[in-house]
Amino acid sequence: MSVGFAERLLAWFARCGRHDLPWQDQPTPYRVWVSEIMLQQTQVTTVIPYFERFMTRFPDVSGLADAHIDEVLHLWSGLGYYARARNLHKAARIVREAHSGRMPETMDELMSLPGIGRSTAGAILALSLDERQPILDGNVKRVLCRHAGIEGWPGRSATATSLWQLADRLTPEKRCAAYTQAIMDLGATVCRRSRPLCQQCPVAEDCIARREDRQAELPAPRPRRERPSRAVVMLIVRDPRGRMLLQRRPATGVWAGLWIFPELPAQAAASGWCRENLGLLPTRIEDLAQVSHGFTHFTLQITPRIVQLDSEPAAIMEAGTMLWYNPEAPARIGIAAVVERLLTQVAAGKSISGEQDGPDGQLRITGH
Ligand code: SF4
Repeated sequence: MSVGFAERLLAWFARCGRHDLPWQDQPTPYRVWVSEIMLQQTQVTTVIPYFERFMTRFPDVSGLADAHIDEVLHLWSGLGYYARARNLHKAARIVREAHSGRMPETMDELMSLPGIGRSTAGAILALSLDERQPILDGNVKRVLCRHAGIEGWPGRSATATSLWQLADRLTPEKRCAAYTQAIMDLGATVCRRSRPLCQQCPVAEDCIARREDRQAELPAPRPRRERPSRAVVMLIVRDPRGRMLLQRRPATGVWAGLWIFPELPAQAAASGWCRENLGLLPTRIEDLAQVSHGFTHFTLQITPRIVQLDSEPAAIMEAGTMLWYNPEAPARIGIAAVVERLLTQVAAGKSISGEQDGPDGQLRITGH
């Protein structure tokens, strides 16, 4: 079965696969690594401009290692899942210190770097060095679960073990780079999450999901679990020059290292926060429509609260972890996407539309 599967896939790839992605040009371990990390949870079309900007600024691993984390996060702003960027940066520094600035070329060494798991390490070696290493990213899991009719959520360890064994059996001895790109492309463009294009699929003939009409059931979804929600207020403190106050998040936890608006518990008073941190009382307070932001383990219900000052504070407490952000001359710092959108809309004087709630999306005036 394995020879037939790989051969059919490779013949299809030669005709229909993607051959002009920017990371396929000079596929060094470094370029493949960055592309694989960016592609986790993110579409190819979204990744391309980010990848190109990243490579222009950091053409090699040493350049990335030497950069300040703020600049790395700045180039990542909008891609989401910022732990990926922080791990890239950390790993680049380890490569500089422990491997003399040369990307390691063994599975064990790659997997010892932050953010690189078995599938990413396999993809780096297969795509850049044509080494025979199976991979198992989201697209590949979908193809294999459907083709072989594998039951069970792929996140379960028993299912994952079966999938790795199958991925290994199907990987050919030669042309591993092309095969790896081919199976990823098949998952992304033909064996799509919804409405797969089975008529165009090179391995349709012996696909179990197709034969049993079970494409929509496989792979089995993650068992449902309630996601708790947490309510906070984000203070959009504006000074008379239109600048807005940002605060750097701690190095761990959600949005680690990014700059966001000062965050308060839902019941806390904005005026008390301003008095304590800025030595001033606001002249006007306005609530905007609530915004929901989903994290893996919980949903954050954010009430953006504009706080207008009529004079500039002499100093801010916690200088170094707070800065005045000028939308006219934006600083090169990493900003969480939800904050970036609020910044743009407030700077443009527009009302804010809630992502899920906020029935009219208009400003609501309250007296806090
Ligand atoms: S036949 Fe359809 S379900 Fe089966 S692998 Fe191909 S695209 Fe996926």
